[in-house]
Amino acid sequence: MKIIVCVKQVPDTSGKVAVNPDGTLNRASMPTITNPDDMNAVEAALTLKDNTGAEVVVVTMGPPPAEGMLRELLAMGADRAVLVSGREFGGSDTYATSQILAAAIKKIGLDKDDVIFCGRQAIDGDTAQVGPQIAEKLEIPQVSYAADIKKDGNSITVKRMLEDGFMEIKVQTPCLVTCIKELNEPRYMSIGGIMEAYSKEMQVFDYETLKDDPLIDPTTIGLKGSPTNIFKSFTPPQKGAGMMLEGADKNTCAKLAGILAEKHII
Ligand SMILES: Cc1cc2nc3c(=O)[nH]c(=O)nc-3n(C[C@H](O)[C@H](O)[C@H](O)COP(=O)(O)OP(=O)(O)OC[C@H]3O[C@@H](n4cnc5c(N)ncnc54)[C@H](O)[C@@H]3O)c2cc1C
Repeated sequence: MKIIVCVKQVPDTSGKVAVNPDGTLNRASMPTITNPDDMNAVEAALTLKDNTGAEVVVVTMGPPPAEGMLRELLAMGADRAVLVSGREFGGSDTYATSQILAAAIKKIGLDKDDVIFCGRQAIDGDTAQVGPQIAEKLEIPQVSYAADIKKDGNSITVKRMLEDGFMEIKVQTPCLVTCIKELNEPRYMSIGGIMEAYSKEMQVFDYETLKDDPLIDPTTIGLKGSPTNIFKSFTPPQKGAGMMLEGADKNTCAKLAGILAEKHII
């Protein structure tokens, strides 16, 4: 069994978010991290590896420095890593990104027993589209919002989080699962893992590596192959300070009701 985990390097938006004058994100001036949901996806894969001996392959599409993130995931316990990188891939929207990642996964090899884990959502693009799109392009089943995953012979059972409860779904492999933070607590890199990370396999897939796949075509990848057009991007105005009402007595409730009525909320 092989578990392929798609991981994205994202700007750390917990600090100051730098925006260019044209409204685009100034990625170069911000530190990068592994997308938080993807850390949960990696941890889920490593837990399955601990229990079943599965092989864990981490894959990212990004610029060459994304190799550093992949080395950290190898230090956590992943077995090998694939960096999908090339100028032809730059400017890809979610459609083109999933097209390229699906081709990369085909190149890695997706067997009957295998599963693909993605994060539910990246904290920069925030669309939650890439995982489901990869599944569509590979024509395999998918389950999103996984809060628990169990391997069960030729299928896996996923506890899927809904707004007001859970749904348990049994799905045949190969399949794709998108993971959420409720799934687990990602482990730290170990000292031994850090020492080992540099002796593990790191493959680079460029345009030449993937160009024979029917999914890879100049009209379906990169900026030219991206059907999304961004008309305008802007920083929303800062919200004013909130108002605090102390106490839970009748007078405070009446005051709250008065304020809400004044603002036509009730
Ligand atoms: C016209 C256009 C041009 C763009 N050009 C660029 C560009 O040049 N460089 C750039 O970085 N972004 C670019 N973007 C943004 C880029 O399209 C998205 O960041 C990317 O497609 C992922 O979408 P998302 O962030 O919404 O991911 P989501 O769909 O929210 O991500 C869900 C999950 O998919 C997986 N995933 C997503 N992206 C990757 C990845 N790259 N590698 C591995 N796994 C991944 C992860 O598991 C992630 O948790 C561009 C967007 C548009 C619309």
